[in-house]
Amino acid sequence: MLKYVWLDGRYVQSSRAVVPITTHAIHYGTSAFEGIRAYWNGKNLNVFRLDDHVTRFRRSGAYYDMVLDRPDSEMRAAITGICRKNLIKKSCYIRPFYFVGEHGISLHVTKRAPIRTAVFALPMGRLFGAGGISACVVSWRKFSDGSTPVQAKVGGNYLNSIIATGEAKRSGADEAILLDHSGNVSEAPGENVFVVRNGRIATPPLESALDGITRDAALSIAEDLGIKAEERPVPRSELGAADEVFLTGTAAEITPVISIDGKKIGNGRPGDVTKKMISEYADIVMGRNDDYTHWLTAVYP
Ligand code: PMP
Repeated sequence: MLKYVWLDGRYVQSSRAVVPITTHAIHYGTSAFEGIRAYWNGKNLNVFRLDDHVTRFRRSGAYYDMVLDRPDSEMRAAITGICRKNLIKKSCYIRPFYFVGEHGISLHVTKRAPIRTAVFALPMGRLFGAGGISACVVSWRKFSDGSTPVQAKVGGNYLNSIIATGEAKRSGADEAILLDHSGNVSEAPGENVFVVRNGRIATPPLESALDGITRDAALSIAEDLGIKAEERPVPRSELGAADEVFLTGTAAEITPVISIDGKKIGNGRPGDVTKKMISEYADIVMGRNDDYTHWLTAVYP
């Protein structure tokens, strides 16, 4: 844990950022959060797609009448500020979140419920090895938008991700893939899923998958590279028949999947399309692609 975190408008020592055990969010998962990466390129630390993360952050709570009672400008300043305050000069992961504080045991959360807001950061390199990972389709299904809003990035939703991850790890795979209620591919516990076949890319629509910011970046990169990409239902059988599969997410970046359910994808190595996407993505986050510098926010002046 780094020395400082940001809590309710102030930088405080990590050890002093504590909340009562009666905090509503601990009991019911009433928290909204983001995961953001910042990349150190040898000269500066650049936060990737800060504005988009802050926009999604605010929306996530709104589904539940949890009101982020601080302006976007303050959140942006806290997110870059926590890096400066801790003098971070390496790539890191930043976690802003807000949550219902002391609100008794009531399930009636209204816009007047007390909200607390925090940001912390931690140094983070690659989440997965560059050589690609194994995945398995788990028996647990992704919850549907008819149960709880899929686009809300809120604490409670992540129990679905946690149970799926546990099943995948127990069966020896690095990552889970969840199907939706109709049996099509939905997403991974913390990543969107892409399949590549005959040089074309497909990713499931947003009915049951989070509108990932890296997913959006990948669609944009595909367009730049002249690779046809579509959002459409992806049947489970397409995973096995794909030439390449990759995952996208802030933490996972673009990660090749080289086997699913013990069966090799393609030749069992990261494919050419995936490798091209990874290299473009690295250029963008490191500030080497002038078309995308608007996606980067410098931490140090
Ligand atoms: N799906 C889920 C369920 C996630 O938690 C994440 C991580 N935020 C993603 C997809 C990928 O989203 P992003 O690219 O915005 O990190």
